[in-house]
Amino acid sequence: MKVLVSNDDGIEAPGILALARACEKLGEVTVVAPERERSTAGHSLTLHKPLRILEVAPRQYATSGSPADCIYLSTRFLLSEPPDLVVSGINRGANLGTDVHYSGTVAAAREAALMNLKSYAFSLVDIAQIRPGHQPEPFRYEVAAGLALEVIARTETMEFPAHTFLNVNIPNLPREEIRGIKVVRQGFRYYSGDVTERADPRGKRYYWIGGGYLGFEPGLECDCVAVGDGFVSVTPLTIDCTHNDFYTTLKGRF
Ligand code: MN
Repeated sequence: MKVLVSNDDGIEAPGILALARACEKLGEVTVVAPERERSTAGHSLTLHKPLRILEVAPRQYATSGSPADCIYLSTRFLLSEPPDLVVSGINRGANLGTDVHYSGTVAAAREAALMNLKSYAFSLVDIAQIRPGHQPEPFRYEVAAGLALEVIARTETMEFPAHTFLNVNIPNLPREEIRGIKVVRQGFRYYSGDVTERADPRGKRYYWIGGGYLGFEPGLECDCVAVGDGFVSVTPLTIDCTHNDFYTTLKGRF
């Protein structure tokens, strides 16, 4: 089996190293990832400036592009044949609920799904977000990589629907505290939406956006709840974002 591995934390991130090492059990692994961190790059493609590719080791390429660029370059240029499997991650931090729209980790898997390649996004969720009041703990990438392989193994014989991929979030807990794997819907997370205004040394104003995490919409059978309860969440995502019920209602107006 040919496996393509990418991420948005950059080619030197511990999460991609753990995932690539784990995937060696499945077959031939090629790593194509951004040369630096591109978290929250979303599904951007670089169309207006040149891209660089650096072969850092055999079958390991760092690119100057976004995560989606990495998948594009891999499948349309670097690889001699399409991969059997595309995996993205393991991201340092959650990609739960609404995060999937900003995430570069998820975008890499989505770009592969656009080409109907079987793909997965894997993210490791900070314990301080799972258990409020807890201090952040070192990320257990080896535990997460083992669980990633388990999710892949349990879906190996399944054919995914067209343009559909799996978004997997793993709580950063010791293996024995992880309660199982649950298939759940995408949830909804809240952030404070801060804007911080400052002045540069010449007195010119500049701005930092992005606030703290405030929690998730409770009461749903969703990824945020499952991970909060100590389960690995598996959510099938697809490209078509049409709201089916409102689509029907709206059609009645025109
Ligand atoms: Mn990231």
